[in-house]
Amino acid sequence: MSFSNLNLAESLLKALEASGYQQPTPIQQQAIPAILRKRDVLACAQTGTGKTAAFALPIIQHLLRSTPSAPSIGPRALIIAPTRELAIQIDENIAAYTRFTCIGHAAVFGGVSLSGQISELQKKPEMLVATPGRLLDLHAQRELSLQNVAFLVLDEADRMLDMGFIKDIKKIVSLIPTDRHTSLFSATMPIDITNLANTMLSNPEQIAV
Ligand code: AMP
Repeated sequence: MSFSNLNLAESLLKALEASGYQQPTPIQQQAIPAILRKRDVLACAQTGTGKTAAFALPIIQHLLRSTPSAPSIGPRALIIAPTRELAIQIDENIAAYTRFTCIGHAAVFGGVSLSGQISELQKKPEMLVATPGRLLDLHAQRELSLQNVAFLVLDEADRMLDMGFIKDIKKIVSLIPTDRHTSLFSATMPIDITNLANTMLSNPEQIAV
């Protein structure tokens, strides 16, 4: 299978070529078509399998197909990650995939001052990558609206639970409209993850690689 079989926009195919990707990895072959069909996804995948592109590419494709005419009030896609390192890495990947599009993106995470991130949010990025605590801080300070989020991804969900983020995750999910598309990626599937998936995913397509 090649990326051109996956119904992706020309601007995405060009970006993948520029990144040197030749063919989709197994997780990409399964998750991209499911997310393009707007199915919720519950994926068991380790780092290094290409999971970032597996959720980012179809979400970018949806955003490209439905560019809002008015400036958005808040991000349309939200990706939650457990650590700042992972948030930065996901944002760098999104930067590579959106390079031939007009889609803006940003990452917000703890451990650095709020002011730089507030000015990033004022540019109204359509895609936001965030760690849970900083996201809730920015929301509590009314610097960020989650009312526009139509695509939600939880990455490395098992690590987020291990790090004690379960309450934060539930709070974030409660702030997002229910008519969203949701994907949950996890390296392992303990019962706590299955329970969380049951509360936030609707009839998910289950993928394991
Ligand atoms: P991830 O599992 O998302 O952290 O990706 C691991 C690494 O594989 C990253 O450096 C990606 O840029 C790279 N990668 C992802 N998908 C592909 C692909 N289809 N072909 C080649 N490299 C890829």
